[in-house]
Amino acid sequence: MANQADDTVDVGLDLEHCSGCQGCVEMCPEVFGWDDTLELPVLKDSTGRREQVLQAAAFCPKDCIRVAGWKRDW
Ligand code: SF4
Repeated sequence: MANQADDTVDVGLDLEHCSGCQGCVEMCPEVFGWDDTLELPVLKDSTGRREQVLQAAAFCPKDCIRVAGWKRDW
């Protein structure tokens, strides 16, 4: 199996239930920024490094982070 640590994945955000905890911004600042006006995260990049993005997605307490091809039930 190939080393996928540096692979990139497509990322989306569904902020309907976002709590504003900023965990995604801290864990993956290359992809998630912070909008001070809206007090919500924003996508800085629609792709990111798989390892970092999946970490943020697994952490997100409100299941806001969408990753192409990733199933949450692992
Ligand atoms: S980790 Fe999830 S709940 Fe927290 S700010 Fe990011 S998108 Fe919102």
